[in-house]
Amino acid sequence: MIESFDRMHGLPDGFFDITTANIRSLFPNPTLIQLDGQDRNYLFISILLHGNEHSGLSVMQKVLARYAEELPRSILLFVGNVRAAEANLRHLPDQVDYNRCWPGTLMESCPTSQMARRIIEIAHGLPLFGALDIHNNTGRNPHYACITDPNPRNQNLAATFNRIAMVYKHKGVCTMAFDGICPAATLECGLPGDPEGIEHAVRLVEEMLSLEQLSAEPPKRDKLHLVESHLNLHIPGHVSYDFDPAADVDLRFEENIEARNFTLMDPKQVFGYTRIDRPISILDTDGHDVTDEVLRIEQGRIFFNQTLMPAMITRDKLVIQQDCLCHLLQDYLPHHDVEL
Ligand SMILES: [Zn+2]
Repeated sequence: MIESFDRMHGLPDGFFDITTANIRSLFPNPTLIQLDGQDRNYLFISILLHGNEHSGLSVMQKVLARYAEELPRSILLFVGNVRAAEANLRHLPDQVDYNRCWPGTLMESCPTSQMARRIIEIAHGLPLFGALDIHNNTGRNPHYACITDPNPRNQNLAATFNRIAMVYKHKGVCTMAFDGICPAATLECGLPGDPEGIEHAVRLVEEMLSLEQLSAEPPKRDKLHLVESHLNLHIPGHVSYDFDPAADVDLRFEENIEARNFTLMDPKQVFGYTRIDRPISILDTDGHDVTDEVLRIEQGRIFFNQTLMPAMITRDKLVIQQDCLCHLLQDYLPHHDVEL
């Protein structure tokens, strides 16, 4: 069984007026839309793979309104998890994560992964210029691109968005399904609906619609700082915590902990406070527990053993439970690829 999705050629009437709340009046199912432009090399764009991350819809409404007469380049637009978008959730309880189910996924085959496979077959059957997957973060972060293959063209694509970008290797993300086919990046556009994040992504999409080619020369260090994510920091379910240093709980953080996002923390900076022995667990990308290597507790204060960069910190307790508190980043080192 494959999850059913619709196909359209051209935009449906009413596209510019919909919001995620009424999106299913136009798109009752996930929908793949082919939009013809001057250059027939397609830009694949996916939006709403995570239903609550709705900036991508606004981005495409703005871009497509600006090019109502004619697109400089053809677009293949995938409108993803419309049921979750309607409910303003990452995914519904009975659904899999729409950005972990793409070819290369570790997930068991299911209707949604089969739909993703079919979408990729269709996309790969067309001449492709590039692929963009538009997302948001649940905490306050700078806007940045994520790439799964740090080749020079992808690095240039990422550098066009921001001077910091992340290499990530989560199996089954949409961006990874384009590796070896065309330049591809995931765009993290700040909090859902953040007007600056929307404008920032609009500019990048517009550039990708008119650009002839991305350079194959790696960007200089002053143009791109590439970091990688291979540690996730979790709070075990039995640990009580709060974002208030004076709270009567097992684990406490400063209220403005999100200000730590994408800043380096050295081994002398306090990350949090605790009254128990193991308030946190840190997993690497293989799921191994590396907590004792990565952090230490001294008189109730939590420190990292090496300089690390927290990112995607969220204070949303549901997201912390479903995903994690934050990622811990390091500078990207190409030799790490050998083991991945
Ligand atoms: Zn997302």
